[in-house]
Amino acid sequence: MKSLPKAEIGVFGGSGFYSFFEKATKVNINTPYGKPSAEITIAEVFGKKVAFLPRHGLKHQFPPHKVPFKANIYAFKKLGVKTIISPCAAGSLQAKIKPGDFVILDQFIDRTKGREDTYFNGPEVAHIGGATPYCPRLSQVAIKACRKLKIQAHKKGTVVVVPGPRFSTAAESMLYTSQGGEVINMTQYPEVVLAREMEICFLGIALITDYDVGLSAKRKVKAVDSKEVIRVFNQNLEKSRKLILEIIKNIPAKRDCLCATALEEARIN
Ligand SMILES: [Zn+2]
Repeated sequence: MKSLPKAEIGVFGGSGFYSFFEKATKVNINTPYGKPSAEITIAEVFGKKVAFLPRHGLKHQFPPHKVPFKANIYAFKKLGVKTIISPCAAGSLQAKIKPGDFVILDQFIDRTKGREDTYFNGPEVAHIGGATPYCPRLSQVAIKACRKLKIQAHKKGTVVVVPGPRFSTAAESMLYTSQGGEVINMTQYPEVVLAREMEICFLGIALITDYDVGLSAKRKVKAVDSKEVIRVFNQNLEKSRKLILEIIKNIPAKRDCLCATALEEARIN
């Protein structure tokens, strides 16, 4: 059997991210949790092996509630990935976070329903900690990279993850705003906790496309039309490509964060 190629960094991103790298290799991986969203492309970036996986599939055929999260994270683990960079489109729940801004996530509130969110269903049991779900070391790298590229970014932020595929009602959205949610998205959970269970450092970057419905319903901000949303989305993609390259360049090899040994204190048996 052919042995699997290795990669140290995993990025949730499609062809927009890797199409300009030469000598990319493609690998099909199977996992005990099924197939990941797509074949994985591995390319060398700044001397580092980076694996790219489009979260929603090559044809964007997996809606948020159908993304094979467990297979995706496990596939990265099988390649030897120690760091995952997870950009995601998100709406803003606070007027100060504007369309086009980036938010380096540090907390989440899970509002999804019934998603498979653990590899520990027994007989092996582990309870991973939740105090610092995102890797603080990677956040610092991302903050510096945003500063260097002059990207308007918020150094931290709480993402409310909703099940989708429908968007929130104005009442739900206002509730999330009042509870301290800063951005809203449909895919960060359970990606972030599954990565921690696999002792992989995880960086979540929310790319803000619009204000969520609660803010405009309360007339705190002006409602934006869909043309504007698409324009901002495309601009964000371009900026996030540059940002991810800058982050890859600067990720230190040494892992002195809590993610690397997350299971040591989490295991019960
Ligand atoms: Zn870490």
